[in-house]
Amino acid sequence: MNAIKIPNLIIGGGIAGITVAVELLYRRNDFYLLESSPRLGGKVESLSTDKAHFEFGPNALAAVSPEMTQLLERLNLTDSLVEANPVARHRYILKRGRPVQLPSKPPQILTTKALSLRGRLRFVSEIVYAPRKKKGEESVWDFFARHFGEETARYIADPFVSGIFAGDARQISVTAAFPTMAQAEARSPSLIRYLLSQRKMMKTDPRLYQLKGGLESIFRSAREKVGGERIHLNEGVVTLAVDGKKMRVVTDRAEYEADRVYLTSPAYVASSILEKDFPQISAELKKVDYAPVITAHLRVHREEPFPFQGFGLLIPSEEQRQILGTLWNSSSFPFQFHDDRHHYLTVYAGGAKNRKLIDLDDAVIHDLIAGEVENIFGLRRGVEFLHLRRHAQAIPQYILGYGGILGRIQELLSTVPGLKLGGNYLGGISLSKTVTHAAGLL
Ligand SMILES: Cc1cc2nc3c(=O)[nH]c(=O)nc-3n(C[C@H](O)[C@H](O)[C@H](O)COP(=O)(O)OP(=O)(O)OC[C@H]3O[C@@H](n4cnc5c(N)ncnc54)[C@H](O)[C@@H]3O)c2cc1C
Repeated sequence: MNAIKIPNLIIGGGIAGITVAVELLYRRNDFYLLESSPRLGGKVESLSTDKAHFEFGPNALAAVSPEMTQLLERLNLTDSLVEANPVARHRYILKRGRPVQLPSKPPQILTTKALSLRGRLRFVSEIVYAPRKKKGEESVWDFFARHFGEETARYIADPFVSGIFAGDARQISVTAAFPTMAQAEARSPSLIRYLLSQRKMMKTDPRLYQLKGGLESIFRSAREKVGGERIHLNEGVVTLAVDGKKMRVVTDRAEYEADRVYLTSPAYVASSILEKDFPQISAELKKVDYAPVITAHLRVHREEPFPFQGFGLLIPSEEQRQILGTLWNSSSFPFQFHDDRHHYLTVYAGGAKNRKLIDLDDAVIHDLIAGEVENIFGLRRGVEFLHLRRHAQAIPQYILGYGGILGRIQELLSTVPGLKLGGNYLGGISLSKTVTHAAGLL
């Protein structure tokens, strides 16, 4: 078979791959993008009906990075950004079976019902009794417990980690997952004092955004800009080998010879693609663990007593529920909903601590989710199920020791200048951070 020659080859059409494609296009470099599935987007998938908008993967853009801003500019999508309703500042946790509002501004920590009086006093005492810095790596749970007490770890750090990583706060590494927190501690033993010195204590939450056409509009615009001839859908990469200065890529359809390959598939796929010619990199990539997540869309009648005004509710592990949390989409982004009779919710379930849930039948999962939502919000009319989506390997877990895995991968990659790895397991899991990392590959 004659290899197709191309200077740049991108593997994977998720947000990382598409960032590289748009950047190469902008720099007038030639490339093909190979995507194994029939669509671009990867974890991003949107659906709009005349009544409602649904996201099956990521729900919103938080803390839009400069590189994400640049990507949106290049795709003429800047004007499509819509900030969340101010009410989305209100976030809830479940405490002893009831939704309790979290502080939306840091000073509210003094009065929040999310912590007991003792828990609040322990929290603010950090300003005076800053803990001794711990040597070595630490979990998010231990970091919060050391600074603010066990109750804050249980009711704030734990749901925060399950909301972002669907992960276990006792396993997720603070340095790998939240490096800015670890850096803040390096500057000041007291995190509260550090935030006060930076005048960050009075600031509200990072802003959240949606796009007028949903998150998948990024990919529709990218496809239009890049042109269908450069994007090969339904073409999965099987192996990648180095041949002198060239990279040889074999897919289920063809063979390519490229100067540079941007491999942006999930780590477990990259591990399989590299297994034969790069066994050491492959072995490190195999160690990246992914947590499963179930996404369910449902709606509830607006006559229910619970107001569903806010961003949503997260559930601490302590509460021992079958769901991780729920977002109140029609409250956060009302412009996407045209139905006066219902609130629209997304429920997340599964995660690193409840891995078997994803294997249950749809009907069983429906019953479990409906039971939890009806009980937590005291619903009288019940819930109406709309969609259920299983992400078997949803989110990479930045667990203790993760920095070591990434360090070894970087070291091994330094000897293969034609191979670049991108994706959310490398520089942060949010869309914005994935874009920042991918843009940095060029
Ligand atoms: C349920 C859920 C909720 C989330 N919520 C948010 C949120 O609200 N905000 C936020 O910022 N982030 C959120 N995230 C994280 C964010 O969605 C992801 O980090 C991001 O979409 C990952 O992009 P990626 O390009 O790294 O990988 P992917 O999206 O997984 O893309 C990889 C691509 O590679 C393709 N591929 C795989 N194998 C091959 C092969 N052999 N050959 C060619 N192509 C291949 C895949 O089909 C896929 O298209 C969420 C994630 C999940 C799962």
